[in-house]
Amino acid sequence: MTDESVGGESTRRLGTQDLHVHTNMSDGDLSLEELVGVANRLGVTIGVADHVSSRNRAMFVSDRVRLEAYLDTLDAAPVLRSAELCWCDPFGSEIAESLRGQCDYLVGSNHGFPLPDGTFASPWWRELPTPWGERPQELMEVMVRNLCDMVARMPIDIAAHPTFMPAALLAIEDDVEAWWISEREDRFIEAALANDVAFEISNRYRLPHDRFLRKAREAGARFSLGSDGHHADQVARLDWAVAAASRAEVTDRQLFYVER
Ligand SMILES: [Zn+2]
Ligand SMILES: [Zn+2]
Repeated sequence: MTDESVGGESTRRLGTQDLHVHTNMSDGDLSLEELVGVANRLGVTIGVADHVSSRNRAMFVSDRVRLEAYLDTLDAAPVLRSAELCWCDPFGSEIAESLRGQCDYLVGSNHGFPLPDGTFASPWWRELPTPWGERPQELMEVMVRNLCDMVARMPIDIAAHPTFMPAALLAIEDDVEAWWISEREDRFIEAALANDVAFEISNRYRLPHDRFLRKAREAGARFSLGSDGHHADQVARLDWAVAAASRAEVTDRQLFYVER
């Protein structure tokens, strides 16, 4: 939390809401009760955004019955209600519109994206399968096009870990701006603005990078802070995200902030 201001604009709200936290209702470690305990101790308001997705049927909130139970549980707790939906998950797209009215906000994530041949790519790829080893920039381009489509098509408020990209690409060239070239940044920022989707500053993945944040802020984008915490030592921790937001001169006015 900070009481400073930037250019006369308050930054008091920066770091007071962690809008991306997981519980053991999907793949987090903590029960909702334990999570609330940690949040209270750290003085941070929590937005629970468990995975509502059929991509892992055993672990995620993957059907309507589980979704009802999930929402009832959140309703009874002193937390903001959300859900992390997967781009290209059929269950997510089926229920997203109705879920909007039952949540305080919705989070959308690229956890996999379709390739031109109909197969799926993973942003967690550590090695590039054929033929992408020979065409890494093309793969990046396909991913950025998917991100632009994601913010345009999903009825979400926040794009989680927005610039996350395969480690296999960073192993070829570790300068993130060699992949997030300026023109790709501009396109993604423009798409998010056009669809009123905020960019998450991810404490877990330590992104977006500074140039992206600064450009997005100058273009008028909004930002949320998220720990993407799954473990007790991650939830409600926003130190890196607050520092990154401060470097980009993000103030309360650019924050995606949920009034309670
Ligand atoms: Zn995610
Ligand atoms: Zn998450």
